[in-house]
Amino acid sequence: MLTMDSFSFAGKKALVRVDLNVPQDATGKVTDDSRARAIIPTVRKILNDGGSAILMSHLGRPKGKVNLAMSLKPVADHLSVLLGTPVLFATDCVGLDAQAKTAALKPGEVLVLENLRFHPEEEAGDEAFSKALSELGDVYVNDAFGTAHRAHASTTIVAKFFPEAKLFGYLMQAEIDSVGKVLGSPQRPMTAIVGGSKVSSKIEVLRNLIGSCDELIIGGGMANTFVKAMGGQTGASLVEEDLLDTARAIVQEAEAKGVKLHIPTDAVVADSFAENASTDHCAADAVPDGWMALDIGPKSIEAFRAAILRSKTLLWNGPMGVFEMKPFQQGTIAIAQAVAEATSKGAFSLVGGGDSVAAVNQFGLADRISYVSTGGGAMLEYLEGKALPGIAAIQG
Ligand code: AMP
Repeated sequence: MLTMDSFSFAGKKALVRVDLNVPQDATGKVTDDSRARAIIPTVRKILNDGGSAILMSHLGRPKGKVNLAMSLKPVADHLSVLLGTPVLFATDCVGLDAQAKTAALKPGEVLVLENLRFHPEEEAGDEAFSKALSELGDVYVNDAFGTAHRAHASTTIVAKFFPEAKLFGYLMQAEIDSVGKVLGSPQRPMTAIVGGSKVSSKIEVLRNLIGSCDELIIGGGMANTFVKAMGGQTGASLVEEDLLDTARAIVQEAEAKGVKLHIPTDAVVADSFAENASTDHCAADAVPDGWMALDIGPKSIEAFRAAILRSKTLLWNGPMGVFEMKPFQQGTIAIAQAVAEATSKGAFSLVGGGDSVAAVNQFGLADRISYVSTGGGAMLEYLEGKALPGIAAIQG
C-alpha cells in the first residue's frame, strides 16, 4: 500500500476527497474551520512535492440539486487564507469547467471543486459519475474520515479507477492508526468508556468492545437501562424498556469474557429535564418516582476514575450525563479530566464519536488526549467492528 510519506506527488495532479463540510453563518462565513485546518498537512505535502491538489467535498445536504447557499466557494476562499496561497474554484465537480481547470492546473496550485452533492450520483455511488471524477486527477487520496462509512462516488467507488495510485491522506491515516492502537493490539489494561443517551445506538459498539477491553465503563442515559435490567428503580429516567434483555445479555457476555463492567452506583437526579430543575443525589438503583438520573454521582466518578487511572489504553465514546446543562456536567468533566490525567501518565487515549468530542473541546482538554477523532458516525461504525467502505476501497 502507498503511504503519504513514501509517495512523491511531483508532477502529479492529486484528486483528494476531503471533508470541507464546515459550519457557516447566514452570510457563508465559516464559523468553525477545524475541518479545513485538519486537511492542511495533506495538501501541503502534495504541493511541497511539486504536485497540484484537486479538492472535492460535500457541504450540507443539498439532496442532489444545485443550491448555491451550500456552495463550497466561500470555503475555498477561507482555505486560501489558511494555506496562504490562491485557491482556484470550479463551478461544478464534473463537466467542462472542472475539466478545463484541472487540465490547466500547474504544480503548486490548489483547486476546489463545487459541492459533490449537487449531483444525486454522488450519494448513489454512480459508476459513470465516479469515472468522470477520476478523469480529473492522476492519483486518488482519501482524507475524509467523516464520510468513510459511506459508499459514495467520491469516497469509495472512484478508488477503483486508481488501482495502482490510491492512498490515505494524513488525517485518515491518523484515524486508522488510532483505532488500531485501541482495538488492534492495545497496551493493557485497556478500558472503554461508553456513554450517551441510548443503548440502542451503541449495542454493536458494546458487543465489539467486550471482545477487546479489560474494563468497560457505562455511563450517561444508557446506564439507566442497565440499572433497571439489574433490578434497580430508575424513576422517570430515560430507559429503553425493550432493551432490558439486551442489557442483561451484555452483562452476561462481559462476565463470560472476564471484562470488568462498571455501571453507575449513584446519580445526580432532577425533577425535570431542565437546566433549572430541582436536583438531588441518590443511589443509582433507588431513583424516586418522578425523578430522573441526569448525571453520574460522586461515588461513580471515584470508581470510574480509579479504573481510568490504572489503564494503559483508553477509548471514550459518549458523555456521562446531560453535559449541555451545567448542573449535569460534573460527571463528564471528571471523566474527561481522568482520561487527560491517565494520558499524561503515558496511557494512549482515543476520544471518538460525537458528543464526547464536543465535551473535551468544551472543557479545553482536547490537547491532553492522545487522539480526538474527527468522524462521528464513521468512528461509531468503526468501533462496531465494521469494515468502512472508504477504507476498504483503498486497502483492497
Ligand atoms: P449520544 O449521541 O448517544 O452519544 O448521546 C449524547 C446525548 O446523551 C447528549 O446530548 C446528552 O445530553 C445525552 N445524555 C447523557 N446522559 C443522559 C441522561 N442521563 N439522560 C438523558 N440524556 C442523557
